[in-house]
Amino acid sequence: MKANISHLRELQAIDLKISTLDKEIAAGSAEIDSRRASLDGHKEIIVQLTEKIAANDQRRRELEAELADEQVRIKDRQAKLMNVQTNREYQSILKETEDGKKVNTQREEAVVQLMEEIEALNAKIEEEAKICDEDEKMLAEDVAAVEKKISQFNTEKTKILKTRESKASAVTASLLKKYTAIRDKRNGLAIVPVTGGVCRGCFMNIPPQLYNDLMKEDKLISCPTCHRIMFHEAETEEV
Ligand SMILES: [Zn+2]
Repeated sequence: MKANISHLRELQAIDLKISTLDKEIAAGSAEIDSRRASLDGHKEIIVQLTEKIAANDQRRRELEAELADEQVRIKDRQAKLMNVQTNREYQSILKETEDGKKVNTQREEAVVQLMEEIEALNAKIEEEAKICDEDEKMLAEDVAAVEKKISQFNTEKTKILKTRESKASAVTASLLKKYTAIRDKRNGLAIVPVTGGVCRGCFMNIPPQLYNDLMKEDKLISCPTCHRIMFHEAETEEV
């Protein structure tokens, strides 16, 4: 049983190392993902701003066409004014001309406003493009660094997994199954030391009789509270 415990402890140390590596790899990937998402966000803003500019430009062209049409109508009316017979007709054409001029002034103001908006939007696009450029450069460097780290972790993990295979084969199939089941259920920790009568997995006291059995090291004993496999470890002196 002593040998089994020692194999399991080695296996546990290896598995903790693997889980640490997995966490590092995941953290590196997550960081890259979040940076990419932020960059995509800026790119999306540029797309939206560009669409807004296109819409403003379309409206500006419509207004300019309306302006030109109105201009033609105003000229026609002015020509007609020369040949009117009655004062009533004269007043009516004059009013239509004035109304047309008024509407055209409004159109001109709207065109100026649209052009100002387009200018502001273009400035914003330039700003966003600059951010994108900088982000892209930094991201490329950081991605290369993180990918290098991940590849190192993966190489290390492959080596450790090989060691794990040989360690796992030293343990009986049923014990390995038990170890794996506890590890899955208990946050990656299946075998824990007991010091001063306390299980270091759940920090609960274990009954004195169980503690005595544990000292004998002749059978596998599980913690009554967290069900992890326990082994006795001499108390280290507190500094
Ligand atoms: Zn426990």
